[in-house]
Amino acid sequence: MDSPLQFSDAELGQWDGQAAQTMTEVVASVGDGVRSYYARGRCPRCDHATVAYGVLDSVVLRGSNAGGATWGGGHLEAGWVPGRPVQLQLRCNCDHTHPDGPEGIKGCGAEFNLTTQARQAITP
Ligand SMILES: [Zn+2]
Ligand SMILES: [Zn+2]
Repeated sequence: MDSPLQFSDAELGQWDGQAAQTMTEVVASVGDGVRSYYARGRCPRCDHATVAYGVLDSVVLRGSNAGGATWGGGHLEAGWVPGRPVQLQLRCNCDHTHPDGPEGIKGCGAEFNLTTQARQAITP
């Protein structure tokens, strides 16, 4: 099997700056065992609407294939404390078909890194 990541690996880092503008909603929540992220906006590469969400973990989830979807991931660095930035590594998850995109992967293949402040989950 060919490496499905080849396409986007060549462009790693290229879209980070633009993604900071086009991804309008980037949220990470940490607290009480809840560690999640949510990012919504437009893909910096194809300009289609894209959304990504998942669980923040202590490991980088980029390239994971849970549930057949590869949206990206986020991780908390060792020793992370509230107020510290959280790194998200996301992949375009738009609903459009991109014939030139990586095979078997949703979206156009663009990967981008975003940094956000985590807010603590509120305990009811
Ligand atoms: Zn697209
Ligand atoms: Zn895209």
